[in-house]
Amino acid sequence: MSFSCKNYDYNDDKCLMLKQECIPGRPGCVLEGRIALSETLIERIKEIEHKKGSGSPKKK
Ligand code: SF4
Repeated sequence: MSFSCKNYDYNDDKCLMLKQECIPGRPGCVLEGRIALSETLIERIKEIEHKKGSGSPKKK
């Protein structure tokens, strides 16, 4: 990746703010809504969310 983010922990390869894997543009990321996510990243986020289980209630 060729970017610099103040929240990125180079030692741990994680996001210090979200305390999770750094996926630029993911929900909660400073870049959320500012960049277009690739299909690969979207799939990656879904995969991570799925692993976490259905923790977030979804209301319409
Ligand atoms: S997830 Fe976003 S806020 Fe966190 S380190 Fe990566 S680019 Fe920065």
